[in-house]
Amino acid sequence: MSLDEIKSRIAKAEVAAGRDLGAVTLIAVSKLQPNARVAAVLEQGQRCFGENRVQEAAGKWPDFMQRFEGVDLHLIGPLQTNKARQAMELCHAIHSVDRPKLAKTLARLAQELGHCPDLFLQVNTGEEDQKAGVLPTGADGFITECQALDLPVKGLMCIPPVGEDASRHFALLAEIAARNGLEGLSMGMSSDFETAIAQGATHVRVGSAIFGTRG
Ligand SMILES: *Cc1c(COP(=O)(O)O)cnc(C)c1O
Repeated sequence: MSLDEIKSRIAKAEVAAGRDLGAVTLIAVSKLQPNARVAAVLEQGQRCFGENRVQEAAGKWPDFMQRFEGVDLHLIGPLQTNKARQAMELCHAIHSVDRPKLAKTLARLAQELGHCPDLFLQVNTGEEDQKAGVLPTGADGFITECQALDLPVKGLMCIPPVGEDASRHFALLAEIAARNGLEGLSMGMSSDFETAIAQGATHVRVGSAIFGTRG
């Protein structure tokens, strides 16, 4: 599917949900995609991209940022504390803040660097053992903790369990965000971004639907 098709599907979903056109930010997830495909999407004007791994992002994005102005890079995958500095130097947003230790590291580095990317706190809405994120019952406390550290918490992020109706998870995430006064909702991927938009997503993370299957 082309970038234009995805953008028009997002616009339709915004209108259908009674939301403003442009309310939703499309994050084009370029992880594991050949550079030529990423460059083609940059040529079409897309500037917001998502990467899963700091190392992979550091390998390709400094070059792209030299060639294309205004790149907005979002880290959407798990972040180890020993990669936090590199992530903060390279990325404009981090969607995977999932534990107090990482939050404290980010707060310390923010002081040191004098800036901090926009942060989304990951909630493990499906309470899956193998998945990162705070449990729904711990979310309010974690949000408060991050805010007390003066971190720029923009919103929440979730990755619903595979094979389940994502809608219930999006609703739960939206409910936690609303009761904490957070506006950002990073939810929805290739298979369910329209559902996520209907439920208030502000950022959708779409990879394979734009770029094709990953190598
Ligand atoms: C890979 C990935 C995506 C994009 O998935 P697609 O199904 O290719 O759209 C979105 N979010 C996260 C956290 C991912 O790791």
